[in-house]
Amino acid sequence: MAGIYVHIPFCKSKCSYCDFASFPDKLCYAESYMACVYREMAKRKDQLKNYKFDTLYIGGGTPSVIDEKYIAMLLASAKKNFFLSDNAEITIEMNPGTVSAGKIATYKKCGINRFSVGLQTAVDSQLEDLGRIHNLKDFENCVKLLKGENFSVDVMIGLKNQTVADIGKTITVAAESGASHISMYALTPEDGTPIYTDYLNGELPDGDTVAEMYEAGAKKLAEFGFERYEVSNFCKKGKESKHNLNYWRRGEYIGFGVSASSCINNVRFTNTFDLDEYFKCILSDNFAVINSEQIDEEGRKEEYIMLALRTARGIDLKEYAELFKSNFEEEYSETLKKLSSFFESKNGFIYIKPEHLYIQNSLIINFFK
Ligand code: SF4
Repeated sequence: MAGIYVHIPFCKSKCSYCDFASFPDKLCYAESYMACVYREMAKRKDQLKNYKFDTLYIGGGTPSVIDEKYIAMLLASAKKNFFLSDNAEITIEMNPGTVSAGKIATYKKCGINRFSVGLQTAVDSQLEDLGRIHNLKDFENCVKLLKGENFSVDVMIGLKNQTVADIGKTITVAAESGASHISMYALTPEDGTPIYTDYLNGELPDGDTVAEMYEAGAKKLAEFGFERYEVSNFCKKGKESKHNLNYWRRGEYIGFGVSASSCINNVRFTNTFDLDEYFKCILSDNFAVINSEQIDEEGRKEEYIMLALRTARGIDLKEYAELFKSNFEEEYSETLKKLSSFFESKNGFIYIKPEHLYIQNSLIINFFK
């Protein structure tokens, strides 16, 4: 399985927690930027001619902020240069403050069959604190336009002044919107973002409180019939994000645009985060890669374990043996013995017990040599 990611780095304004490559004051460059992305795709055509892509994910930034005709042209460019399977999952991220019936109609017409909507919280004052450009009403209008479509909703926990009741309300709004998939992420206050000051001032909930929020959120999601298939991702039966599953199963992927990363043939490479640099590289007929790393056997193994243990299904013992010519249970027998109360195994899989999934990072680290 292989996926394509395209990064659209434009937003209406910068959210207070955002450290993604997103440029709120550069929307006027959207046309030139997209022309560079189409060019970058054409330049990768030969390298990827033997690949069949099963997913295409348009993320950002805010892909829905640019004119929909560029998205249609992007899809045309992807189909012209690469072999996209007939039933490929094609997703676009949308900010509820930037959608319209016309945009959604164009997205559908050009083959987009999955939408990812950033609600974050159903409490308007918290949306304002986050610097989001939308409010709850915008979200309600957005999901009305998506009625009958396959869509996912992002929600956040660990926000300033957020209570467990607020999380319950947010999940209820998201679940009752008709979403088939809900991602629930904990806010990470990154140094250099405005929200980091709130963190330093002790205004954000502490780790234990966020863990309680997560448990309450996961419980609420289960009540609405959403199954957890990865630590932050929950869905109705069969509605997992194929694009993300490909990442967690160490599949190959190619990224286009500023900051996009790729992993092809066990070489991981990342594009520049600098918009001007990206233009300069692509317009001078070069790639915009700033670093590239060949992943050796040990690195592949660590990645496989780390990614698989984030998911509810865990490590596929047969697949592990095929990939690494080694028996996982024998190789890590001491670690598994030491952590036995946190793990379970069933039907050829070893996984972290659901009640411990939230602390997966502190468990996974024990598998690194
Ligand atoms: S909409 Fe997303 S990418 Fe844009 S500024 Fe906000 S968090 Fe960052």
